[in-house]
Amino acid sequence: MTIPRAEHFIDNRFVPALGGLTIPVIDPSDGRVFAAIARGSADDVARAVAAARRAADGGAWSRLAPVERGRLLARLARAIEAKAEDLAALESRDCGKPMRQARADVAACARYFEFYAGACDKLHGQTIPYTPGYQVMTLYEPHGVTGHIIPWNYPLQIFGRSVGGALAAGNACVVKPAEDACLSLLGLAEIAAAEGFPPGAINIVTGYGHEAGQALAEARGIDHLSFTGSASTGTRVAQAAALRHVPVTLELGGKSPQIVFADADLERALPVIVNAIVQNAGQTCSAGSRLLVETGAYERVLAALAERFSALRAGPAAMDLDLGPLIRASQKARVEAFLQGLASQPGAGAWVRARGAIVPEAPGGGFYVAPVLVADADPAAPLCREEVFGPVLAAMPFGDEAEAVALANGTDYGLVAGVWTENGARALRLAKAVKSGQVFVNDYGAGGGVELPFGGVKASGYGREKGFEALYGFSVLKTVVIRYGV
Ligand code: NAD
Repeated sequence: MTIPRAEHFIDNRFVPALGGLTIPVIDPSDGRVFAAIARGSADDVARAVAAARRAADGGAWSRLAPVERGRLLARLARAIEAKAEDLAALESRDCGKPMRQARADVAACARYFEFYAGACDKLHGQTIPYTPGYQVMTLYEPHGVTGHIIPWNYPLQIFGRSVGGALAAGNACVVKPAEDACLSLLGLAEIAAAEGFPPGAINIVTGYGHEAGQALAEARGIDHLSFTGSASTGTRVAQAAALRHVPVTLELGGKSPQIVFADADLERALPVIVNAIVQNAGQTCSAGSRLLVETGAYERVLAALAERFSALRAGPAAMDLDLGPLIRASQKARVEAFLQGLASQPGAGAWVRARGAIVPEAPGGGFYVAPVLVADADPAAPLCREEVFGPVLAAMPFGDEAEAVALANGTDYGLVAGVWTENGARALRLAKAVKSGQVFVNDYGAGGGVELPFGGVKASGYGREKGFEALYGFSVLKTVVIRYGV
């Protein structure tokens, strides 16, 4: 796949930014500019919203029967699979992802469209028994035009889950990808048009968050907003939407705990625990970034993890190692600042127990951080409370179940948790006591499957995407009351 043009995708056509400006695209593996994208403004957003409105308000998209929408989504799923290698190569270069990760992301994106293709004609309302002489029914109707603000860590996956659900419910979409990673989504929109999506159903405006993103959050003509990104930006988006009473789904960050009891099957747990923080170089909302280990097993677990961390290798995306670079220089600096801050932590001194390596082939201009295992981390320290968004696992011991729950719930976030124990009753107690949107027992899904509703509590956001549940959020429930008696 060639690198898409530095233009927006509106009404099934590539169009330049009205202001004529572009933004350079940097390859995180070497820090060099290799492409450009259009720098969208409020005028570009308005143009995309107008296209989506035409599609939603009586246009070809809104006239499609649900079964026909489903067939289009299914065709898109197959087309994504057919172009998987090209899309993965683009995503890998743009985001610095090892090819294995990029391929997995493409497969997940296709799977979202496959899942939602089957769901289009299954969003049923109800009939409600009411007073004699009345017939009452509920209808799930599309909002109309949905806005989607997408982060850079998993562009294809998050597009699939957010836009896939919104399209399935019958909405037309305006998408603002992250300025750091949007090439694959422009390619995807072009594929969708070629597969027969009517003009205006899928529109993409690229640009900076404070320009195009803010304009989308404030745009008239948007009926629902789905935001995936940091908690601070999510707050701004929700504030902007509240001024127009536009409903919002917020998929924000996390500080997710992995809770390991002494009876856990470590053979099974350890590779999953490592992967949950190393995947995508730790730049995953649901990264298992805190490790809570029962005191009796603490030393054993840390020794085994240290061996695994020391063997990890970071390098250019094309080398397909354990992890690639971080997305940009400022992200690398942010992660390094957390590690430098260790020495000045309050309380007992945390220390780097093990560190992986950056391979010598990694270009000096790339944004590499070696994966780090931190032992005896202070739960009150920024490392344990804030989202680092890098390959840093902070470990700490706990004495009993109550302390494990208190530590697990002791941050502002609540996205995902992992519980590792062979004691079924304890697993269930923990699953209920931990405050988060998902809990895995004896596994950790880094977001879980396409079928599984996903979202947070507290600063991790509200609303649910993924699974059938998402369709309720992308719809408006209307109650129709018919009086037929005299
Ligand atoms: P970010 O909040 O900086 O940016 C996210 C998106 O918002 C980008 O498209 C950006 O351009 C846009 N944006 C920035 N400022 C804006 C503004 N003022 N108005 C409107 N839009 C604006 O987040 P990021 O650094 O791109 O992504 C990392 C964050 O995303 C992490 O916190 C991560 O946990 C979170 N995330 C959450 C999920 C989830 O499902 N819960 C999934 C992936 C990432």
